Amino acid sequence: MDGSLARSLAVVRPEIASVLDSLTGREQPVSEVLGHDYERLMQLRLEVKSAIHEGTPRYLCAECFTSVYICRRRESRRFFFRHSKEDGRCSAITRGELSQEQINARKYNGAKESHLHQQMKRWLVESLQASGLFTDVHEEKRWSGSITGEWRKPDVVANLRGLKIAFEVQLSTTFLDVIAERRLFYLKEGGLLFWVFAAFDDDARRLTLDDVFYNNNQNAFIVSQDTRDCSVAEREFFLDCVWTEPLSPLAEPKLSRKRVSFGDLTLDRSGQRAFYFDYESARSQREADDAADRATWPSQFEEWFLEIAGRYTSLYDQEDALASFPEGVPVHWGDGEMLTDTPLRFYGGERRLPVAMLDAFYSAKHGRAVGINRKHFIEVAHYVAASYPHYLLWFRKALEVYGRGSLLREQDRSGSWAKRVKAYRQEMEIDPDKYAADQSHQLLFEFLFPELIPLPQWPGDASAFPRT
Ligand SMILES: [Zn+2]
Repeated sequence: MDGSLARSLAVVRPEIASVLDSLTGREQPVSEVLGHDYERLMQLRLEVKSAIHEGTPRYLCAECFTSVYICRRRESRRFFFRHSKEDGRCSAITRGELSQEQINARKYNGAKESHLHQQMKRWLVESLQASGLFTDVHEEKRWSGSITGEWRKPDVVANLRGLKIAFEVQLSTTFLDVIAERRLFYLKEGGLLFWVFAAFDDDARRLTLDDVFYNNNQNAFIVSQDTRDCSVAEREFFLDCVWTEPLSPLAEPKLSRKRVSFGDLTLDRSGQRAFYFDYESARSQREADDAADRATWPSQFEEWFLEIAGRYTSLYDQEDALASFPEGVPVHWGDGEMLTDTPLRFYGGERRLPVAMLDAFYSAKHGRAVGINRKHFIEVAHYVAASYPHYLLWFRKALEVYGRGSLLREQDRSGSWAKRVKAYRQEMEIDPDKYAADQSHQLLFEFLFPELIPLPQWPGDASAFPRT
């Protein structure tokens, strides 16, 4: 999707309007830092919080130089920067008091969740024990860090062939701070932090779920009574996995779900990630496929054009010609959304493909008259030079690139072409405006004839008359 069209993820009038990036020393508007890519923002959010925990904050308030981190406004689902401390020294007020209602809601959720929390820990332990893969399975056992000198008490800890894994149940009371500092702890201590969820909905997800999801290669794992029963019955640790598959840039992302065995997961300790579906690799592959597909568009167009060339004067009006237009090549049909970055456009009621010039340039490419009722290629050259002075510089470039010099000399029995070249070269010096390139279809020509880039714009351009 074109980035400029996407909705900004920043709130409309943020209290803190710009921040200092400590990596570059540059002051940047908040809307620019937050951008419009949700996945990237979720990763940045964790990165910014982690950096504060490490004592090396990434962003500072541009007014008071207090470190800031990324928050979301609940109602608008948009993001802003909040001071990590607020003591009145800054005119920007980003930390509101919690209302009594919010405090009550948290207490209520806390009580409701603690029961679920106990249950989930039990299901985890029973699932891990059912599988023969894990040893030293413990609930709420203190993990003393030999490197950091700190300690944590993961919900459940287990050993998988020498790798110590901390299983943490993600609850609505688990905030980004906790996610960031635990991740750093287990990373430094050589362990792996593995988050499990009670549920993962398609929409209206809590932000903290996304904080984990988008930093875990877009995979989330669910433990339930059902997965526990399955694990015990099969004597293997089963979980329900939810992941995203990269679709075309225009498609709405869709969540896939499957019950998977822990043994089928990729454990990435240095990235503190565990995943079933490798979203990042799949996305790279998808991008490579799309690029390869785009690379075939010019030749698909050419094949189509050579097929219909000369049969129509107006492409737009000829429905049967358009009916044969290659399916894989997207076109802007005038109404509705521009689908891709292809410069091919047909507008309603108006022929916009420069058919005569496409005829001439494909003629140069193939060394014969294409779409123009002439016997010899040299007649096409005369036609362009006489009737289309604003295309002559590009056409000359085409003659050079496609090596048509000898063909022209061979066909120029009368010497009239040589005379014409001499004449227009003289005229170009006297009246260069007459030969300035017509740029209205430049994108199209660059797209269809990339070998002609750079297209000369002016008789004085170095690329117009290379001194060879
Ligand atoms: Zn400030």
